[in-house]
Amino acid sequence: MNKEVVAPGDIVGVAEEYLPGENVEVDADGKLRAQVMGIVVRNDREHVISVKPIRSSNSLLRVNDIVYGKVVAIPNDRVVIVKIIGVENNGNKIVLKDDVTGIIPPSQLLNGKPGNASELLGIGDIVRARVISKDPPYTLTLRDAQLGVVYARCPRCGHTLRWKGNELLQCPNCGAMVRRKVSLVEYWA
Ligand SMILES: [Zn+2]
Repeated sequence: MNKEVVAPGDIVGVAEEYLPGENVEVDADGKLRAQVMGIVVRNDREHVISVKPIRSSNSLLRVNDIVYGKVVAIPNDRVVIVKIIGVENNGNKIVLKDDVTGIIPPSQLLNGKPGNASELLGIGDIVRARVISKDPPYTLTLRDAQLGVVYARCPRCGHTLRWKGNELLQCPNCGAMVRRKVSLVEYWA
């Protein structure tokens, strides 16, 4: 069965068909709208529609969790600050309710290779990383072939970059080549 995930404000039904259940409200037009991010639950016998909230996963982040985050800053070209937006859970990606900060220290960027962080990552890149500390702000590592950038835009023209091979990404629009610590998984196939 497909789970229907909705965001606050999304229409989940109409008042003629269903009664508003938990986390659902009726708007002025008789539309039933979700009040939380969650999964739609329809009780067709009682004609009640409700939304089961997706649990905030913030407190669930654990050592070795695989997370997705956006690079927001690279102070002094050494440390990388990441806004963690999602976590993998049994193959599913769960969106975090609140932003959590992650930090990638220089030693966790590549296997001991020196270099400036901005030669490996760029602001706005989406990275797949692994949690290696117990408490927030979470320390993250990219030291694995499966970890690194999974999505990036061209710094010159903004187009989505494509994987060119090894650590190189190329812009299909302007041809710019960019070096990144890329995640060698299906994202770039
Ligand atoms: Zn470009």
